[in-house]
Amino acid sequence: MKFVSTRNPLVRVTFQEALFRGLAPDGGLYIPSEGLELQTHFQALDRQSSFHEIAALVTAYLLKGELDAGAVHRIVRNAFTFEPKLVQVDEQLSILELFHGPSCAFKDFGASFLAAAMEEYLQSSDQRAVILTATSGDTGSAVATAFHGKKNIDVVILYPSGRVSPLQEKQLTTLGGNITALEVDGSFDDCQRMVKAAFLDPDLSKRYPLTSANSISLGRLIPQSFYYIWAFAQLKDQLKEEFFFSVPSGNFGNLTAGLNAWKWGLPVTGFVAATNANDVVPQYLETGIFSPRPSQLTYSNAMDVGNPSNFERMEALFQKNWNLMRSLVFGDRVTDAETLETIRDVKAQHNMFLCPHTAVGYKAARRFLATEAGDHGHICVLSTAHPAKFLEIVERATGQTPELPPPLVAASVKEKVSFKIGNTLADLSQILRQVIH
Ligand SMILES: *Cc1c(COP(=O)(O)O)cnc(C)c1O
Repeated sequence: MKFVSTRNPLVRVTFQEALFRGLAPDGGLYIPSEGLELQTHFQALDRQSSFHEIAALVTAYLLKGELDAGAVHRIVRNAFTFEPKLVQVDEQLSILELFHGPSCAFKDFGASFLAAAMEEYLQSSDQRAVILTATSGDTGSAVATAFHGKKNIDVVILYPSGRVSPLQEKQLTTLGGNITALEVDGSFDDCQRMVKAAFLDPDLSKRYPLTSANSISLGRLIPQSFYYIWAFAQLKDQLKEEFFFSVPSGNFGNLTAGLNAWKWGLPVTGFVAATNANDVVPQYLETGIFSPRPSQLTYSNAMDVGNPSNFERMEALFQKNWNLMRSLVFGDRVTDAETLETIRDVKAQHNMFLCPHTAVGYKAARRFLATEAGDHGHICVLSTAHPAKFLEIVERATGQTPELPPPLVAASVKEKVSFKIGNTLADLSQILRQVIH
């Protein structure tokens, strides 16, 4: 399998190249160059099929000719020290919990696979890499925990001082070892600008084997397909007619991964693209016009994206055919007031806490079940973060406090270690000299 740019099918690379480059040289995003035909494999899965088995199956097909079976198993084993969990709420709806990883959010699946795959390639060729990344909170903690202790890799994370939550800051700054946290005197935009400038600086690129781990990386997209397939295997016996997923979406990586699974033969009837007020994709599905705009702040802040990068991958998947996309993807937007109400209602009715992102997916799923398209189906809602990561909103909605999961308790009691720096490229270069050897 080769991987191509969304902007030019002639830009063809191996998985390894796509992994270390991140973005294609023409500014496009990498996608698989051809389909996989895995229907018969998917039909053979059942409740006993393990997450590892599914991850190894798909990875082996995607990387056939590039990695042998031993390497595929090492990557899968090293990446997934945690699993998704399926909670059946009633006959029509279940929740796929994706927050049992080290940072308690679904981004752990992507980051862990990326880290394990990079380590495999670097160790086998005796090379090193320096991951440089900026974070406004959640992405950084998934990347930091995923790369912690990985051989041949140093990680440098920039975050805006005083602008991430105290718990997020602990998750970034308490790991030590190969993870360095830089506390930047500035905004998230400053952090991003510094990282971009570093990648463009010839002197720094010569000195360090710089690479990125950002959310559009193919190495983070691929593993997100695995849990759609696993959820299908878990539910398969009881599925009657139609089967849907509801995906709380921001940058649309998660939904794109589900679409890939469908393309490879997963028998899913459709997807609900659930957004908050940042609804450019639901609007596109309604009108056929994609018009990005500045993002708006909401309670589900990891989904506050006004120009979702993965829309380019979605378009490529449907060959820019609006009607085709609309036949499989159903858009819905959920307000902040509905988000709060949903968190309160689900706690009262089912004694479950939802994070605000999951609540958006849940609300859209319930609404979809009430439409003609959805009324004889089962829908699986992707739960993207542990509710305790968004304590303030969950408390406001329910009047109760969800318990912190063990990884967050562990981080919260450790000592913060960070380097305070200014917001220029010179500040970054200087600190890199100190911390990378
Ligand atoms: C990143 C994130 C999302 C949005 O996922 P995309 O792949 O960007 O659509 C949803 N919920 C949480 C908790 C997130 O961190």
